[in-house]
Amino acid sequence: MEKFEQIFSLLNEKAEKYEKAEGISFLDGVLQALEDVLDEKEQPLFQDSTKDDIRKAIQIAILKGMRKTSQPNHQMTPDTLGLLVGYFVEQFFEEQLKTGPISLLDPAVGTGNLLLTVMNLFDGKTSATGIEVDELLIRLAADSAELTEQPIVLYHQDALQKMLVDPVDAVICDLPVGYYPNEEVALEYELCAHEGMSYAHHLFIEQSIKHTKEGGYLFFLIPANMFESEQSKDLHKYLKKTTWIQAVIQLPENLFSAKAHEKSILILQKQTKSERAPREVLLAKVPNMSNKEALAMFFEKVQMWKESK
Ligand code: SAM
Repeated sequence: MEKFEQIFSLLNEKAEKYEKAEGISFLDGVLQALEDVLDEKEQPLFQDSTKDDIRKAIQIAILKGMRKTSQPNHQMTPDTLGLLVGYFVEQFFEEQLKTGPISLLDPAVGTGNLLLTVMNLFDGKTSATGIEVDELLIRLAADSAELTEQPIVLYHQDALQKMLVDPVDAVICDLPVGYYPNEEVALEYELCAHEGMSYAHHLFIEQSIKHTKEGGYLFFLIPANMFESEQSKDLHKYLKKTTWIQAVIQLPENLFSAKAHEKSILILQKQTKSERAPREVLLAKVPNMSNKEALAMFFEKVQMWKESK
Protein backbone atom coordinates (compact mmCIF):
# COMPACT_ATOMS: atom_id res chain seq x y z
CA MET A 1 0.00 0.00 0.00
CA GLU A 2 1.22 3.50 -0.80
CA LYS A 3 1.85 5.90 2.09
CA PHE A 4 -1.28 7.98 1.49
CA GLU A 5 -3.38 4.80 1.40
CA GLN A 6 -1.93 3.70 4.74
CA ILE A 7 -2.74 7.10 6.28
CA PHE A 8 -6.25 7.00 4.80
CA SER A 9 -6.80 3.50 6.26
CA LEU A 10 -5.78 4.72 9.69
CA LEU A 11 -8.05 7.79 9.55
CA ASN A 12 -10.92 5.76 8.09
CA GLU A 13 -10.71 3.13 10.81
CA LYS A 14 -10.64 5.71 13.58
CA ALA A 15 -13.46 7.79 12.02
CA GLU A 16 -15.69 4.70 11.64
CA LYS A 17 -15.04 3.81 15.27
CA TYR A 18 -16.10 7.31 16.43
CA GLU A 19 -19.11 7.28 14.09
CA LYS A 20 -20.40 4.04 15.67
CA ALA A 21 -19.41 4.65 19.28
CA GLU A 22 -20.52 8.28 19.55
CA GLY A 23 -23.31 8.40 16.94
CA ILE A 24 -21.61 11.32 15.15
CA SER A 25 -21.22 11.80 11.40
CA PHE A 26 -18.26 10.21 9.62
CA LEU A 27 -16.94 13.73 8.84
CA ASP A 28 -16.97 14.62 12.56
CA GLY A 29 -15.24 11.28 13.10
CA VAL A 30 -12.49 12.32 10.66
CA LEU A 31 -11.96 15.47 12.71
CA GLN A 32 -11.66 13.39 15.92
CA ALA A 33 -9.25 11.04 14.14
CA LEU A 34 -7.05 13.97 13.05
CA GLU A 35 -7.08 15.35 16.58
CA ASP A 36 -6.05 11.94 17.93
CA VAL A 37 -3.13 11.85 15.53
CA LEU A 38 -2.09 15.36 16.56
CA ASP A 39 -2.28 14.34 20.24
CA GLU A 40 -0.04 11.32 19.73
CA LYS A 41 3.49 12.62 20.07
CA GLU A 42 5.16 9.91 17.97
CA GLN A 43 3.38 9.05 14.75
CA PRO A 44 5.95 7.26 12.56
CA LEU A 45 3.56 6.85 9.62
CA PHE A 46 3.09 10.61 9.38
CA GLN A 47 6.75 11.37 10.00
CA ASP A 48 7.77 9.11 7.08
CA SER A 49 5.26 10.58 4.63
CA THR A 50 5.44 13.60 2.37
CA LYS A 51 3.21 16.60 3.00
CA ASP A 52 1.25 15.77 -0.11
CA ASP A 53 0.72 12.12 0.98
CA ILE A 54 -0.81 13.50 4.19
CA ARG A 55 -2.97 16.03 2.30
CA LYS A 56 -4.19 13.39 -0.16
CA ALA A 57 -5.11 10.92 2.59
CA ILE A 58 -7.05 13.56 4.53
CA GLN A 59 -8.72 14.67 1.30
CA ILE A 60 -10.02 11.16 0.57
CA ALA A 61 -11.30 10.74 4.14
CA ILE A 62 -13.09 14.12 4.00
CA LEU A 63 -14.58 13.34 0.58
CA LYS A 64 -15.95 10.07 1.94
CA GLY A 65 -17.50 12.00 4.83
CA MET A 66 -18.98 14.64 2.50
CA ARG A 67 -20.57 11.97 0.29
CA LYS A 68 -22.17 10.30 3.33
CA THR A 69 -23.86 13.48 4.58
CA SER A 70 -24.33 15.86 1.73
CA GLN A 71 -24.51 19.49 2.81
CA PRO A 72 -24.63 22.15 0.10
CA ASN A 73 -21.71 24.21 1.48
CA HIS A 74 -19.54 21.14 2.07
CA GLN A 75 -17.57 21.14 -1.14
CA MET A 76 -13.91 20.52 -1.60
CA THR A 77 -11.75 21.71 -4.49
CA PRO A 78 -10.38 18.56 -6.15
CA ASP A 79 -6.67 18.00 -6.88
CA THR A 80 -6.99 18.52 -10.62
CA LEU A 81 -8.26 22.06 -10.13
CA GLY A 82 -5.78 22.78 -7.32
CA LEU A 83 -2.86 21.63 -9.46
CA LEU A 84 -4.01 23.81 -12.38
CA VAL A 85 -4.33 26.82 -10.08
CA GLY A 86 -0.83 25.99 -8.79
CA TYR A 87 0.50 25.88 -12.36
CA PHE A 88 -0.84 29.40 -12.99
CA VAL A 89 0.50 30.71 -9.67
CA GLU A 90 3.90 29.48 -10.81
CA GLN A 91 3.58 31.26 -14.17
CA PHE A 92 2.85 34.62 -12.53
CA PHE A 93 5.24 34.32 -9.57
CA GLU A 94 8.15 32.53 -11.23
CA GLU A 95 10.74 35.05 -10.02
CA GLN A 96 9.36 35.63 -6.51
CA LEU A 97 9.07 31.87 -5.93
CA LYS A 98 12.83 31.52 -6.44
CA THR A 99 13.40 33.58 -3.32
CA GLY A 100 9.98 33.39 -1.59
CA PRO A 101 8.01 33.68 0.50
CA ILE A 102 4.82 34.92 -1.15
CA SER A 103 1.75 35.62 0.95
CA LEU A 104 -1.51 33.95 -0.02
CA LEU A 105 -5.12 34.47 1.04
CA ASP A 106 -8.01 32.05 0.54
CA PRO A 107 -11.14 33.84 1.82
CA ALA A 108 -13.30 30.69 1.41
CA VAL A 109 -10.76 28.15 2.56
CA GLY A 110 -13.21 25.30 3.32
CA THR A 111 -11.24 22.15 4.19
CA GLY A 112 -8.02 23.84 3.05
CA ASN A 113 -7.52 21.34 0.21
CA LEU A 114 -7.06 23.95 -2.54
CA LEU A 115 -4.75 26.10 -0.42
CA LEU A 116 -2.68 23.11 0.76
CA THR A 117 -2.40 21.69 -2.77
CA VAL A 118 -0.83 24.98 -3.87
CA MET A 119 1.31 25.41 -0.73
CA ASN A 120 2.68 21.86 -0.99
CA LEU A 121 3.73 22.58 -4.59
CA PHE A 122 5.89 25.50 -3.40
CA ASP A 123 6.83 24.13 -0.01
CA GLY A 124 8.61 26.66 2.18
CA LYS A 125 7.98 29.49 -0.31
CA THR A 126 4.50 30.53 0.82
CA SER A 127 2.64 31.63 3.94
CA ALA A 128 -1.12 31.95 4.01
CA THR A 129 -4.29 33.20 5.63
CA GLY A 130 -7.57 31.32 5.31
CA ILE A 131 -11.10 32.44 6.18
CA GLU A 132 -14.09 30.13 6.55
CA VAL A 133 -17.56 30.51 8.00
CA ASP A 134 -18.26 26.80 8.62
CA GLU A 135 -16.86 25.59 11.93
CA LEU A 136 -16.37 21.92 11.04
CA LEU A 137 -14.58 22.76 7.78
CA ILE A 138 -12.23 25.28 9.36
CA ARG A 139 -11.32 22.80 12.10
CA LEU A 140 -10.51 20.21 9.42
CA ALA A 141 -8.41 22.87 7.63
CA ALA A 142 -6.58 23.74 10.86
CA ASP A 143 -5.69 20.10 11.59
CA SER A 144 -4.61 19.50 7.99
CA ALA A 145 -2.38 22.59 8.08
CA GLU A 146 -0.82 21.43 11.35
CA LEU A 147 -0.20 17.88 10.12
CA THR A 148 1.36 19.13 6.86
CA GLU A 149 3.30 21.81 8.77
CA GLN A 150 2.12 24.59 6.46
CA PRO A 151 2.06 28.12 7.90
CA ILE A 152 -1.61 29.08 7.65
CA VAL A 153 -3.38 31.55 9.93
CA LEU A 154 -7.09 30.74 9.99
CA TYR A 155 -10.05 32.95 10.90
CA HIS A 156 -13.50 31.55 11.58
CA GLN A 157 -15.73 34.35 10.26
CA ASP A 158 -17.86 35.64 7.41
CA ALA A 159 -15.24 36.76 4.88
CA LEU A 160 -17.51 39.51 3.59
CA GLN A 161 -17.46 41.29 6.94
CA LYS A 162 -14.44 43.27 8.10
CA MET A 163 -11.27 41.17 7.81
CA LEU A 164 -8.09 41.89 9.75
CA VAL A 165 -5.75 40.70 7.03
CA ASP A 166 -2.86 42.70 5.54
CA PRO A 167 -2.84 42.91 1.72
CA VAL A 168 -1.36 39.75 0.17
CA ASP A 169 0.68 38.94 -2.94
CA ALA A 170 -1.95 36.51 -4.21
CA VAL A 171 -5.52 35.44 -3.55
CA ILE A 172 -6.58 31.94 -4.50
CA CYS A 173 -10.21 31.02 -4.07
CA ASP A 174 -12.82 28.54 -5.23
CA LEU A 175 -15.66 31.03 -4.87
CA PRO A 176 -18.86 30.19 -3.01
CA VAL A 177 -21.64 30.73 -5.52
CA GLY A 178 -25.13 32.11 -4.90
CA TYR A 179 -26.91 34.93 -3.11
CA TYR A 180 -25.39 36.54 -0.02
CA PRO A 181 -27.98 36.57 2.78
CA ASN A 182 -26.69 39.57 4.81
CA GLU A 183 -28.12 42.51 2.87
CA GLU A 184 -26.87 45.07 5.39
CA VAL A 185 -23.24 44.00 4.87
CA ALA A 186 -23.78 43.82 1.09
CA LEU A 187 -24.64 47.54 1.10
CA GLU A 188 -20.98 48.30 1.89
CA TYR A 189 -19.89 46.89 -1.48
CA GLU A 190 -19.78 48.66 -4.84
CA LEU A 191 -21.04 45.39 -6.31
CA CYS A 192 -24.15 45.36 -4.12
CA ALA A 193 -27.17 44.55 -6.35
CA HIS A 194 -29.32 47.57 -7.31
CA GLU A 195 -32.39 45.45 -6.69
CA GLY A 196 -32.86 42.24 -4.69
CA MET A 197 -30.04 40.17 -3.25
CA SER A 198 -26.37 40.44 -4.22
CA TYR A 199 -24.24 37.62 -5.53
CA ALA A 200 -21.81 36.34 -2.90
CA HIS A 201 -19.27 35.46 -5.63
CA HIS A 202 -19.23 39.07 -6.88
CA LEU A 203 -18.78 40.45 -3.35
CA PHE A 204 -16.01 37.92 -2.69
CA ILE A 205 -14.16 39.19 -5.77
CA GLU A 206 -14.44 42.82 -4.57
CA GLN A 207 -13.35 41.89 -1.03
CA SER A 208 -10.39 39.89 -2.38
CA ILE A 209 -9.21 42.76 -4.60
CA LYS A 210 -9.30 45.08 -1.57
CA HIS A 211 -7.02 42.65 0.31
CA THR A 212 -4.45 42.27 -2.50
CA LYS A 213 -1.29 44.37 -2.84
CA GLU A 214 -1.00 46.63 -5.87
CA GLY A 215 0.40 44.52 -8.69
CA GLY A 216 -0.63 41.32 -6.87
CA TYR A 217 -2.60 38.54 -8.59
CA LEU A 218 -5.93 36.84 -7.93
CA PHE A 219 -6.76 33.31 -9.07
CA PHE A 220 -10.45 32.46 -8.85
CA LEU A 221 -12.46 29.38 -9.69
CA ILE A 222 -15.66 31.02 -10.95
CA PRO A 223 -18.95 29.66 -12.32
CA ALA A 224 -18.38 29.16 -16.07
CA ASN A 225 -21.39 31.38 -16.84
CA MET A 226 -20.47 34.20 -14.41
CA PHE A 227 -20.18 36.85 -17.11
CA GLU A 228 -23.61 36.03 -18.56
CA SER A 229 -25.86 37.27 -15.73
CA GLU A 230 -27.59 40.69 -15.58
CA GLN A 231 -25.41 41.75 -12.57
CA SER A 232 -22.21 40.84 -14.43
CA LYS A 233 -22.18 44.20 -16.28
CA ASP A 234 -21.38 45.95 -12.99
CA LEU A 235 -18.81 43.29 -12.15
CA HIS A 236 -17.09 43.80 -15.48
CA LYS A 237 -16.99 47.58 -14.98
CA TYR A 238 -15.55 47.14 -11.49
CA LEU A 239 -12.87 44.73 -12.75
CA LYS A 240 -11.87 47.16 -15.53
CA LYS A 241 -11.52 49.97 -12.99
CA THR A 242 -9.47 48.11 -10.37
CA THR A 243 -7.68 45.24 -12.11
CA TRP A 244 -6.23 43.99 -15.40
CA ILE A 245 -7.89 40.79 -16.54
CA GLN A 246 -5.00 38.48 -17.37
CA ALA A 247 -6.70 35.24 -18.29
CA VAL A 248 -9.99 33.39 -18.50
CA ILE A 249 -9.42 29.66 -18.72
CA GLN A 250 -12.29 27.31 -19.49
CA LEU A 251 -12.07 23.93 -17.79
CA PRO A 252 -13.01 20.59 -19.36
CA GLU A 253 -16.71 19.71 -18.95
CA ASN A 254 -15.91 16.16 -17.82
CA LEU A 255 -14.47 17.50 -14.54
CA PHE A 256 -17.97 18.53 -13.42
CA SER A 257 -21.06 16.48 -12.63
CA ALA A 258 -23.50 18.85 -14.38
CA LYS A 259 -23.45 21.84 -16.76
CA ALA A 260 -24.67 24.09 -13.92
CA HIS A 261 -21.56 23.21 -11.86
CA GLU A 262 -18.98 23.94 -14.58
CA LYS A 263 -16.22 26.35 -13.58
CA SER A 264 -13.51 28.44 -15.21
CA ILE A 265 -10.33 30.00 -13.86
CA LEU A 266 -10.27 33.82 -13.80
CA ILE A 267 -6.87 35.47 -13.27
CA LEU A 268 -6.68 39.18 -12.38
CA GLN A 269 -3.88 41.55 -11.52
CA LYS A 270 -4.60 44.48 -9.21
CA GLN A 271 -3.65 47.64 -11.08
CA THR A 272 -0.40 49.37 -10.18
CA LYS A 273 1.33 52.48 -11.55
CA SER A 274 4.59 50.64 -12.22
CA GLU A 275 3.16 48.05 -14.66
CA ARG A 276 0.73 47.94 -17.55
CA ALA A 277 -2.11 45.72 -18.74
CA PRO A 278 -1.19 42.62 -20.77
CA ARG A 279 -1.28 43.14 -24.56
CA GLU A 280 -4.13 40.67 -24.76
CA VAL A 281 -6.16 38.58 -22.35
CA LEU A 282 -5.29 34.89 -22.42
CA LEU A 283 -8.46 33.05 -23.45
CA ALA A 284 -7.91 29.32 -23.54
CA LYS A 285 -9.64 26.03 -22.89
CA VAL A 286 -7.99 23.22 -20.95
CA PRO A 287 -8.50 20.06 -23.04
CA ASN A 288 -9.58 16.71 -21.64
CA MET A 289 -6.76 15.92 -19.21
CA SER A 290 -6.28 12.39 -20.58
CA ASN A 291 -5.32 13.81 -24.00
CA LYS A 292 -1.57 14.30 -23.41
CA GLU A 293 -0.90 15.87 -26.81
CA ALA A 294 -3.69 18.44 -26.50
CA LEU A 295 -2.58 19.21 -22.95
CA ALA A 296 1.00 19.82 -24.11
CA MET A 297 -0.37 22.22 -26.77
CA PHE A 298 -2.37 24.05 -24.10
CA PHE A 299 0.73 24.58 -21.93
CA GLU A 300 2.63 25.75 -25.01
CA LYS A 301 -0.10 28.30 -25.76
CA VAL A 302 0.21 29.64 -22.19
CA GLN A 303 3.99 29.94 -22.57
CA MET A 304 3.65 31.80 -25.87
CA TRP A 305 1.15 34.21 -24.32
CA LYS A 306 3.49 34.75 -21.38
CA GLU A 307 6.39 35.64 -23.67
CA SER A 308 4.28 38.09 -25.70
CA LYS A 309 2.66 39.76 -22.67
N1 SAM B 1 -11.37 25.47 -1.63
C1 SAM B 1 -12.16 24.84 -0.61
C2 SAM B 1 -11.60 23.45 -0.31
O1 SAM B 1 -10.66 22.99 -1.00
O2 SAM B 1 -12.13 22.81 0.61
C3 SAM B 1 -13.62 24.73 -1.03
C4 SAM B 1 -14.30 26.05 -1.15
S1 SAM B 1 -16.06 25.90 -1.33
C5 SAM B 1 -16.29 25.96 -3.03
C6 SAM B 1 -16.61 27.47 -0.78
C7 SAM B 1 -16.49 27.68 0.72
O3 SAM B 1 -16.91 29.00 1.03
C8 SAM B 1 -17.34 26.75 1.57
O4 SAM B 1 -16.50 26.06 2.45
C9 SAM B 1 -18.27 27.68 2.35
O5 SAM B 1 -18.54 27.25 3.67
C10 SAM B 1 -17.46 28.98 2.34
N2 SAM B 1 -18.23 30.22 2.52
C11 SAM B 1 -19.43 30.53 1.97
N3 SAM B 1 -19.80 31.77 2.34
C12 SAM B 1 -18.80 32.26 3.12
C13 SAM B 1 -18.59 33.50 3.79
N4 SAM B 1 -19.49 34.49 3.72
N5 SAM B 1 -17.44 33.67 4.49
C14 SAM B 1 -16.51 32.68 4.56
N6 SAM B 1 -16.66 31.48 3.95
C15 SAM B 1 -17.79 31.27 3.23
